[in-house]
Amino acid sequence: MLWEQHCCLPLLPTARVADLARYPLGSYLSVNVGYSGETKADSLALLRLFREQAAADPRFRLVDRVSDIGAPEVISLAFDLEDSAPLDGDLDNVALFYELGVRSLLPTYNHANAAGCGCLDTVDTGLTAYGKDLVRKLNEVGMFVDGSHCSRRTGLDLATHTAAPMIYSHSNFAALWAHPRNITADQARACAATGGVIGINGVGIFLGENAPEARAERLAAMADHIRYGVDLVGIDHIGIGSDYSFDGDQFNAEIHENPAAFSADYTAWGPLQWTPPEDLLGETPGIPSLDDLLTDRGFTPTERAALFSGNFTRVATQVWR
Ligand SMILES: [Zn+2]
Repeated sequence: MLWEQHCCLPLLPTARVADLARYPLGSYLSVNVGYSGETKADSLALLRLFREQAAADPRFRLVDRVSDIGAPEVISLAFDLEDSAPLDGDLDNVALFYELGVRSLLPTYNHANAAGCGCLDTVDTGLTAYGKDLVRKLNEVGMFVDGSHCSRRTGLDLATHTAAPMIYSHSNFAALWAHPRNITADQARACAATGGVIGINGVGIFLGENAPEARAERLAAMADHIRYGVDLVGIDHIGIGSDYSFDGDQFNAEIHENPAAFSADYTAWGPLQWTPPEDLLGETPGIPSLDDLLTDRGFTPTERAALFSGNFTRVATQVWR
């Protein structure tokens, strides 16, 4: 089973939930429904659209609780927010989004907002008072506190202030590839100390393998980040959040249309490349599966099951209501 802690449909009325069936039956997917550019109304409209499509398609099940996940005949779906902007400044909206299936929220997408600093900010003052209130509300409602896209200090502050395990839904390691979106060893240790999990992503610019043809190299780099992470914080604290974008052309266009949310750190290597589910799961001729690459790096079947799904299942059992 695969627990995919973050993937992205286009945030547009043309998005097709059916595309998520490129992941195998039995998977769990957390699907993005908004980031710094979305309002509450925008994210509610996307949730309505995605939930209606999923409810009408027997291949999908909308998740309410952890025990809904893992049935072999369906793909289980919940949602995540990449920024606190869609809360419209009202923390009572955390519970509203939870009711609609949002199970993870990261306070700050790349640049400072009311909650804290982002990973592309040059001045890093960490979590704000509002951000601390947000963490308390996420704990109370039972939604993951997610440090991805946040600044180093904001990530460390999340670990200090959360009363439940925190996650990095889709973050790689700066020790292997120096990029501001990647996290430091102290961030990783602080996350693990809460009991949390770090999902490794398959985005080329965060792995140092962004050439369009370097698909096998991207996957091997993911395996290297997993190996490094396990050596750093232990087998219980690493998972997968590939960040696969189902419309990469649309997202690459958005980066250029919305320069305030991004920077040269996103554009210096050409259009972003991702790791599709087919590459991840060994369905692409000529590319070994991630499972094979992890076997090569010394992981046992039990350890690979923890990495592919067991660790995120554990923290969801601890955090969700
Ligand atoms: Zn992201």
